[in-house]
Amino acid sequence: MPDSDCLSRLKKRLGKIRDVESTAAVLEWDQETYMPPGAVKARAEQIATVRQIGHDWLTSDEIGTLIDEVETEGELSEIDEALLRVVRRDYERATRLPKTLVARLAKAVSLAKESWKTAREKDDFSIFAPDLESILELNREKAEALGYEDSIYDPLLDEFEPDFTGREVEELFSRLRSELVPIVHAIAEREEPDTSFLRARFPTDVQWDFGIRVIEDFGFDMSCGRQDLSAHPFTTTFDVTDVRLTTRISEDFFSPAFFGTLHEAGHGMYEQGVDPKLARTPLASGTSLGMHESQSRLWENLVGRSRPFWRHYYPLLKKRFGVALGEVDEERFYRGINRVAPTLVRVESDEVTYNLHIMIRFEIEIDLLEGQLRVDDVPQAWNERMRDYLGIAPASDARGALQDIHWSLGTFGYFPTYTLGNLMSVQLYDQARADIENLDQRIAQGVFDDLLDWLRTNVHRHGRSRSADRILRDVCGEPLSAAPWLAYVRRKFGDIYGPLP
Ligand code: ZN
Repeated sequence: MPDSDCLSRLKKRLGKIRDVESTAAVLEWDQETYMPPGAVKARAEQIATVRQIGHDWLTSDEIGTLIDEVETEGELSEIDEALLRVVRRDYERATRLPKTLVARLAKAVSLAKESWKTAREKDDFSIFAPDLESILELNREKAEALGYEDSIYDPLLDEFEPDFTGREVEELFSRLRSELVPIVHAIAEREEPDTSFLRARFPTDVQWDFGIRVIEDFGFDMSCGRQDLSAHPFTTTFDVTDVRLTTRISEDFFSPAFFGTLHEAGHGMYEQGVDPKLARTPLASGTSLGMHESQSRLWENLVGRSRPFWRHYYPLLKKRFGVALGEVDEERFYRGINRVAPTLVRVESDEVTYNLHIMIRFEIEIDLLEGQLRVDDVPQAWNERMRDYLGIAPASDARGALQDIHWSLGTFGYFPTYTLGNLMSVQLYDQARADIENLDQRIAQGVFDDLLDWLRTNVHRHGRSRSADRILRDVCGEPLSAAPWLAYVRRKFGDIYGPLP
């Protein structure tokens, strides 16, 4: 069936919008990797201009009219129907926000970023509080403009995780928390594995090469992607044929660069796996942040911190880092990289306690937005929850409520996607193990093509044409649930630490 005139005109416009957005992404990637520091101001203007063009084109009356026309024509293929649904969603979200609100939010963010930095340096939450207050107020306005039925949190979460409401996340998290807190407390009483060897000297070039070797084995396609260095690792996509990863390497600590590289490659393989037919359309990227995080966590944790993986790679690692790892056998290494211990800082936390850090932020966000918590009381609420969930509390706000940049960037509703992704990763991986014969043995041989093929077929190729909820129901036969993740944690960490509650 050939595209109707309206549909082909809509696709042409969307292709150009996509080009402009990708161009902005190139500028942003360059800013974080190679741009000389003196160019900061000029680059900010360039990015703002290009982003503005993309926004103007998306919110133009022409797009609105084309969407309506294509809709009234009826009879679309499944993929075009998905395209129309996604474009309408993007169009409506973008047009519902008044330009003045967007501008005020941008201005508040630039002030908040500065005051957040100063507050963190001086360890004084009160410096950041007034700016957080305005960001909160603007997010309330944003939510009102977007509209909602139940909670003011919903339209904000919806930006990152369509399909889920604040109440659903709350229910999921409360089940998770009630079972996870006793597990974390039990582990805290057990004997801690040795991790000192991870902080020996690991030459950076050898770390770089080893990371690249592993992600190429995974199936990250270097002919359609590359890796560079940046201060904060991230993944960005210019097209399915051009996916950029970044990493950061410290010579005296093995874990961050290696597991960070696997993590970003997981994001990258998702983007590379989108059906090329969807290129230059709004469907050509991951379907939600949670689903995206499920892919990065799957490769980082479920594969990269597993016994079968290290059965294959530990001898290779030892060959490269003989000086640092000379006396350390595979079992000691495996336990070391899987150490669980409450930490104050989210980004330094382990696979098990990580989700408790997320819950604290989620609960504070929703209480702030719904007016049950005042900005000035955030540090106290933070510290109380840290004590309840993790059994420790920060002596300073710099390592407490001020540790994350997200709120200063004006982003509310983002944090829960990290935990949703962790839960999804195990649900999908359990299904992959059921579907792929001898997956563990394959991984122990350093062979990942069955796993990547499975992910491509079931998740990646769909891009945004299927929602996270639909993918989970279709592939795993059930909606998102905390039970598989909890079972996984009890299995894996029960084996390391002894039986867990
Ligand atoms: Zn990630």
